[in-house]
Amino acid sequence: MTMNAAPSGRPTSPLGRRGSTYVLLGLAIAVLSASALMFPTADTASPNRPLTVSLTFDDGRANQMVAQQLLKKHAMTGTFYINSSSIEVPGGHMTRGDLDVLEASGNEVGGHSANHLSLSSLSTDEAERQVCTDRNTLLSWGHAATSFAYPFSDLNATVQSIAARCGYDTARTVGGLRSPRGCTDCPATEPTPPADIYATRTAADVDETWTLEELENTVTKAEATNGGWLTFVFHDVCDGCEQRSIRASVLDQFLTWLQARSALHTTVKTVREAVGGSMKPPAAPPPPPPPGGPGVNTVRNPSLETVSPVDADLPRCFESAGYGDNSVTFSRVNDAHSGKFGERLTMNSWTEGDAKLLPLMDLGECSNQVTSGRRYEVSAWYKSDVEVSLRLFTRNAVGQWTFWTYSPPFSPASGWTRASWISPATPADALAVSFGLAIDRVGTLTTDDYGFAEVPRLTSPAVR
Ligand SMILES: [Zn+2]
Repeated sequence: MTMNAAPSGRPTSPLGRRGSTYVLLGLAIAVLSASALMFPTADTASPNRPLTVSLTFDDGRANQMVAQQLLKKHAMTGTFYINSSSIEVPGGHMTRGDLDVLEASGNEVGGHSANHLSLSSLSTDEAERQVCTDRNTLLSWGHAATSFAYPFSDLNATVQSIAARCGYDTARTVGGLRSPRGCTDCPATEPTPPADIYATRTAADVDETWTLEELENTVTKAEATNGGWLTFVFHDVCDGCEQRSIRASVLDQFLTWLQARSALHTTVKTVREAVGGSMKPPAAPPPPPPPGGPGVNTVRNPSLETVSPVDADLPRCFESAGYGDNSVTFSRVNDAHSGKFGERLTMNSWTEGDAKLLPLMDLGECSNQVTSGRRYEVSAWYKSDVEVSLRLFTRNAVGQWTFWTYSPPFSPASGWTRASWISPATPADALAVSFGLAIDRVGTLTTDDYGFAEVPRLTSPAVR
């Protein structure tokens, strides 16, 4: 479709967007006269102010392969931001085969960090390990990762520079553009090139409450305002399995509608196609700290005295973990074996599973580095009204954490008691260990003073 009445070149009027309304009114008449039969509504996109739409999907959820099929059906491609350490992990994550299918159908595989942690809360070295290791893993799997998305949209200037240093051309936040469920007076689109290529903006996170009409309105408002680049953020694709989800039927209808917008010069592109640059080589991340020697406790913040920068209920360098069907609360309490703070886990109801406080499952700032084949003494002081036990997890070279082993149970204890256990020799592929006392029934567990140290090896066997 050609529109002879359209002005040539990008409007450069100092009147800005308000002034450009007049230009757009003129365009609306031109568009209507040319396409009134095809699009009876007042569509105002112009060939000189085209709109690029990017559809992005976060976290490598297996159910996003439904989106891959729908995109293919509508001759579109999207950008999938992947946490490489979650690939192949049971429980709804994509496999490497899924990533290959995405690539084969023209989609873009981008990075989302190894362990999905709040990057601004980490040391610079750890944040760089998180971003670079993830990208390098994706590159080693054959995916040309040039686009990055910040986990939790959490960033600062240091984190932005890390995205660049690790070799990404673009880095995406969430929000900052106008949408019905987010900011109503923000700009409707990013200019191209974006205002800040390491903090590109999007419409608000799409969740299950978004209607088809709201998705369409976000596009038509962007078309009508100034063209440019509009990015959507999706998580799960399912029928109400998560709050941050879209139903496959709604996505299908939206893509059907969006496909027809190409007649109005609204086109769907991956982030790389829309604003990406050139492919950069892999960048080596800073190495993690070395394993501690025999008898050296490598737990950070072992007495739990410093609070987490991201959760006031947790100590720094620790995370709340658990699985199954139960209800548990974590709280920092002034009941301590040493210092001022301990951590209390209260299991209020329980059907199955457990809960535990663990050193943060990261790439080295908080987790305990190990030498494979060595044994470690794992300990924590505790008080509890039920039996508890130590649960241990290992991390491999791509940053993937998996359950390893557990200790025999420790008896309930009304006074502070030390739970201590010597682990088996660490597996060959284990680079680090995280561990904690787990509660797996209704009750209360208070912990403090964590220890993790290599057991000294016997230098000469006692042979006579
Ligand atoms: Zn995410």
